[in-house]
Amino acid sequence: MIELKGITKTYGGKKTTTTALSGLNLTIGKGEIFGVIGHSGAGKSTLIRCINLLERPTEGEVWVNGIELTNLSKRELQQQRRKIGMIFQHFNLLSSATVYDNIAFPLTLIGTPKAAIAEKVNELLVLVGLEEHQSKYPSQLSGGQKQRVGIARALASDPDVLLCDEATSALDPQTTDSILKLLLDINQKFGLTILLITHEMHVIQSICDRVAVIHQGGIVEEGPVTETFLKP
Ligand code: ADP
Ligand code: ADP
Repeated sequence: MIELKGITKTYGGKKTTTTALSGLNLTIGKGEIFGVIGHSGAGKSTLIRCINLLERPTEGEVWVNGIELTNLSKRELQQQRRKIGMIFQHFNLLSSATVYDNIAFPLTLIGTPKAAIAEKVNELLVLVGLEEHQSKYPSQLSGGQKQRVGIARALASDPDVLLCDEATSALDPQTTDSILKLLLDINQKFGLTILLITHEMHVIQSICDRVAVIHQGGIVEEGPVTETFLKP
């Protein structure tokens, strides 16, 4: 489903370079909830951003759904990216658009007919429990509600994979749990593969099937959550 082969990513120019990832290998199976945990600066953000090529690896191959992404044309990459949803620590919503329009945005962008957009967005509003808030703007929502919008938007193009970049790090513990429960529901309902990166052990323990520990740009340990870290 997701396979990273020998991924190296260096930032910077001739004088100063930072190696964020160093020959990293990782395989994530279809339908898994996979967690990557590590300290600040370990390379987590870079890793997750390399999967949808928000960052281009300096070396290595990125396979998603049996397709290698680093050599695709711009157009082919755009196609494949629709199958990869992403949610963010700070939600990244459009502040001047309503909840409805935020969720509709990816579909509007690719010219989906209005009726089909309405059907999809209404379905997603129910899924994330925001039917009554669809006309509000992000500034009128709580953090948890904003992340629900983020999740709905990420699911609008029916992805196979959902990438979660510290998606609960800006939320209080109770809200974190409700968002994690929603992710688990979505995983079970749609068989969506979920990769989440976090620095919080609790997040890994509560919903992940497998976990990898990243340190200085490489995976140093990997295994089922039950063995590597005891589930609560
Ligand atoms: P994490 O998400 O685990 O905190 P990052 O992937 O953000 O780790 O960062 C890994 C390393 O790469 C750090 O040393 C960081 O400072 C560096 N880095 C990340 N992004 C950039 C960038 N755009 N330019 C230069 N260095 C970067
Ligand atoms: P977060 O905590 O949400 O991961 P960061 O502060 O690590 O955010 O990074 C914010 C942005 O800055 C990211 O796009 C990242 O790639 C970039 N960045 C991180 N470290 C560096 C760095 N040392 N130099 C330049 N850009 C960086």
